[in-house]
Parts: sequence; C-alpha cells; structure tokens
Amino acid sequence: MKILVTGGAGFIGSHVTKLLLDRGYQVVVLDNLSHGFVENVDPRAKLTVGDIRDRKKTKEALKGIEAVIHMAGLISVPESVADPVKYCDNNVLGAVNLLECMKDAGVKKIIFSSSACVYGTSDKLPIKEDAPIHPDNPYGATKASIEVFLKTYHEIFGFDVVILRYFNPYGPGKMGKPTTLAIPNFVKATLAKKPVPLYWQGEQIRDFIYIDDLAQAHIDVLGLSGFNIFNIGTEKGIKVKDVVDEIFKIVGYKVPIADLGKRPGDVAATYASSEKLKKAVGWKAKVNLREGLKRTIEYYKSSQ
Ligand code: NAD
Repeated sequence: MKILVTGGAGFIGSHVTKLLLDRGYQVVVLDNLSHGFVENVDPRAKLTVGDIRDRKKTKEALKGIEAVIHMAGLISVPESVADPVKYCDNNVLGAVNLLECMKDAGVKKIIFSSSACVYGTSDKLPIKEDAPIHPDNPYGATKASIEVFLKTYHEIFGFDVVILRYFNPYGPGKMGKPTTLAIPNFVKATLAKKPVPLYWQGEQIRDFIYIDDLAQAHIDVLGLSGFNIFNIGTEKGIKVKDVVDEIFKIVGYKVPIADLGKRPGDVAATYASSEKLKKAVGWKAKVNLREGLKRTIEYYKSSQ
C-alpha cells in the first residue's frame, strides 16, 4: 500500500513515516519544510517539497496513493492567538485543498492529525470522543473546522475518515523552532542547567503520549472504513510540574523554575479516554512516562 504523509518532515510525521516503511508500506512525503527538515525524512520515502495549498504539487504527490495521513499544519497555540488568519489559511484552506485534490485523484481514505485542543475546557474527565467541541484558541478552531469538512467529505463523497485527536505527544526527534511543546523545553533547559520555563506554575494537568505509541495508532487504524474519531492518550493525567520533577529525578539534579504565568488559550486539565480506540483496533499506550522521558533525555543529550 502506498501512503502519502503530509507534514512527514515534521516531528510526528517523521516517526509515522519511518514506522510505515518498517512495516513494508511505500511512503510519499509532502512537506513545504516551513517547520520540517529534509534530514527528518527517512531516505526510503519519496519527498515532494511543496505546500498542501498548491494544487499542482499536491496532485503530483498523490499519484498512485491509496491513503493519506494528513499531518501538515501549523501547531503553535500562542502563534495562532496572535495570527488566526495565518492559521486558517494554512491549516483549514490547506486541508480543503488537499481534500479536493484527493477527490480529483480518486483517493478517498484519510487519517487526520487532530488535537485534544478541539475539546477546550472539559467538565468531564477523562475526555471521551463524544464530549462537546469548543476549542479555546484559534489553533484548536482550525482542527475543529477541518473535522467538520472531513465529515462532509465522508457524507457527500464517501471518503473513509479517521480523525485522531492527539493529547500531548512527546519523544525524541527534531522539531521546528521555537518549539512550544513542554517536554522538549523542560529537558533542554535541565540539560543546559538553565531555569525550566513553566507556565501556570505547572499546575495544569496533561496526558503525555509517547511518540512510538502515537505512531503505532496510525498503522492500526489504516484498515478502518466509514467515519471514525478516536482520542490518543495514556488515560493518565499528570500535573506538568510533576513531569519536571520526574526529569529532575532521571538526571539526578534540579534546576530553578522560571514562572511564566498563565497563557491565553491554555486549559486547566485535559486527559483522554482511549477506550474507543482500544475496542476498535486493540491499540493501547505501552510506554510509561518515566521510560519515555528517559529516551527523550538520551536523545537531547546526544544531539547537544
Ligand atoms: P511539526 O511542525 O513538527 O510538523 C508539521 C509539518 O507540517 C512540518 O514539517 C511543516 O513543515 C509542515 N507543514 C506545515 N504547513 C504546511 C503546508 N501548508 N504544506 C505542507 N507542509 C506543511 O508538528 P508536529 O508536532 O509533528 O505535528 C504534526 C501534526 O500533529 C500537526 O497537524 C499538528 O497540529 C498535530 N498535533 C500535534 C500535537 C503536538 O503536540 N505536537 C498535538 C496534537 C496534534
């Protein structure tokens, strides 16, 4: 099976690409390299450098493709608050352009990287897939909008759709700068013996999902048809400050905390129920936080 991974030069896309190749799939990557890197792309994949808003490039990348894993997008919540139009243009128009190109090329299977951001603040924890959608920031709003478009493409044009709502992915791997992801920033600061930047004094509760477990979910859902939405998380919420403590325990020393206050668009607590995905395909997070942090710390130690 030949698969197109949009955003395959990015942090998560490069892991998914590698795992697909390891399992015998052929992979084409379409990425404009705005936040990705050529060296992230496994040499066994074919890289097309191009933008998902560019019909010519996107159609070229879709030749011979049977399924699309759509990961290309801008991912920074603060940047989306500062420039929602940029996010709408890149993420929403990009996705609709991709869907149109897929329709023209007769490719009707898509797996989409959505986010826990679509839920915003949720009263009920753990969050299930039928929880109300009310994103608290423009980035989450782009993800929710794309989900609605996917539903219409399923209903009108018969697309098979799997929406994966990631909670908080982390792990080894090169990512675009500046990264707003918590764990890489904590690990890099700790290793450099600089203050760890912590929003909200680390009181927020999050669900950190290790990159290999996340990548595996994409393979597991490839055989599904119809319209599906799944959360991808560990089902365990942890205070962000406790993650920092775990990093300190692993490295064997502490550094000071730099308190950055509260960010607009941040939610207090979010963690997943992944029961639905477990029932559908048997997927379950396997790598615990300590092990995942150890592997991440090793990566940053060796890439310093
Ligand atoms: P990333 O920035 O490392 O990867 C995104 C890739 O998309 C980059 O390589 C970038 O160059 C590419 N890209 C962006 N806009 C493009 C466009 N218009 N055309 C072609 N390529 C484009 O981010 P990531 O962390 O790997 O995230 C991958 C996907 O997962 C994104 O859709 C993101 O919204 C989603 N997601 C990420 C997280 C997270 O915490 N990292 C959480 C939930 C969902």
